[in-house]
Amino acid sequence: MKRNNNEPIFKDPVCNMEVSRKTAIDECVYHGKTYYFCATSCRESFEADPERYTRQHRQHGLKQNEPTSSLS
Ligand SMILES: [Zn+2]
Repeated sequence: MKRNNNEPIFKDPVCNMEVSRKTAIDECVYHGKTYYFCATSCRESFEADPERYTRQHRQHGLKQNEPTSSLS
């Protein structure tokens, strides 16, 4: 599966849905970073308590770049 466009994907910090600048309904700049939201209600939740959503939670094993060349 490959996306055929070059739209960068962002994660809605409230509901964790993936949105692009095209599909995002709303956006908000917080601490110089732009966050995109799938719905206005998500943005409102974010603005009501941005710390809650931007705080890094302790995650076990944060792995973002897994090698994709291991399939053969
Ligand atoms: Zn959302």
